[in-house]
Amino acid sequence: MSQLQENLAAVQAAVRAAEIAAGRPADSVKLLVVSKTMPLNLLQELYALGVREFGENREPELEQKAAAMPDDVIWHFIGPVQSNKIRKVVKRAGIIHSVDSVEKLLKFDRIAGEEGKTPEVFLEVNVSGELSKGGMTPEQVVDAVKAAADCRFVKCCGLMTMAPLAAETEELRQIFGTLRDLRDRAEIECGCSLPQLSMGMSGDFPEAIACGATVVRVGSKIFAGVPK
Ligand SMILES: *Cc1c(COP(=O)(O)O)cnc(C)c1O
Repeated sequence: MSQLQENLAAVQAAVRAAEIAAGRPADSVKLLVVSKTMPLNLLQELYALGVREFGENREPELEQKAAAMPDDVIWHFIGPVQSNKIRKVVKRAGIIHSVDSVEKLLKFDRIAGEEGKTPEVFLEVNVSGELSKGGMTPEQVVDAVKAAADCRFVKCCGLMTMAPLAAETEELRQIFGTLRDLRDRAEIECGCSLPQLSMGMSGDFPEAIACGATVVRVGSKIFAGVPK
């Protein structure tokens, strides 16, 4: 077994273990492999192991890798989106985790229509309030969900957040629990369904799963010790 295969199996097992610990059904959490900065050969090795969805955070890298990988890969865009890159992201990514304002949401919707695409999007929320983090404020979520309900091409499937890297378990649970509560409230206030929560990375995905994550975005734990 290669180091990459071993790491992938270990992370998959840890995701299952966290599902069980949380009393959640098997396969209720999707493991998204975050392949940003990793060379193509490692994505190809993962593809051969059955991985079909990859997360990228820079548009040029997404474009390069998408052109070189098989067509059945579903690309997730997880990075900050500059307005002038929206069209390129829409052309390649089926799922966008980082829509951080109503303005961008509407622009995504218009361009998706022009390009004949219907991407799934997450509204990114800055729960921790860290200045270095992207995302809308918790107070902006309801208005954004209402705006998303009127979109014709993008489909808003839920909320996304990033926790501070150095946070302890208690703070992580507070942040992830807040995102879940925001989702629950927005569903009630807007009368819509937001089934997905994209939260949890290499250092904190068990806590995110305990709080209801449906997608965890894991990079460094999968590529640890793998020669580039
Ligand atoms: C890089 C990144 C991840 C993965 O982080 P790891 O700690 O390497 O697992 C997840 N989400 C976003 C938005 C990222 O930029």
